Amino acid sequence: MLETTGVPTEEQIKNVFPPMEVINRGPVAVIECFQQIPCNPCTTSCRFGAIYIGEDINDLPIMDVTRCTGCGICLTKCPGLAITIIDGSKSEDYIYFSIPYEMSPLPKIGSVVKALDREGKYLTDVKVNNVRSNKRFDRTNIVTLEVPRDLIYQFRNISMEVSG
Ligand code: SF4
Ligand code: SF4
Repeated sequence: MLETTGVPTEEQIKNVFPPMEVINRGPVAVIECFQQIPCNPCTTSCRFGAIYIGEDINDLPIMDVTRCTGCGICLTKCPGLAITIIDGSKSEDYIYFSIPYEMSPLPKIGSVVKALDREGKYLTDVKVNNVRSNKRFDRTNIVTLEVPRDLIYQFRNISMEVSG
């Protein structure tokens, strides 16, 4: 599926998400990097040694969630926009999903936007919890959304079309 549509299977997605008890402890990175390419800014940018690629730059990154602080640096450095930070420690109803965002304008904190899945299909409306305009992290901004827990494996992006 990934090869023909660019969209990973549910199994591939679930394999890169940490267990729920880890997500509920605090922010942690999720790396959706499924294709072998010569790329490694994720590992070189993580000063906690939480991402391993090894000697062959084509190998896929491996996450060590025990080292990840959820700082988000890797998210801003990944040219493939493959990294998100998820946090289940703040709410019983929502996962706080921080995604890379390079569109303009940025959404406003407190606004409601449309949550999309990996194919760009509408899932539900979500609230923008935070926006970090990242001058000190190069150009990739970070937008944090309150995503209902039952959409954790479906959610991936937002549409700036404002709802409600
Ligand atoms: S979020 Fe921070 S600590 Fe976690 S993998 Fe990325 S750079 Fe490393
Ligand atoms: S920087 Fe992004 S695209 Fe490159 S290897 Fe790391 S996760 Fe994959």
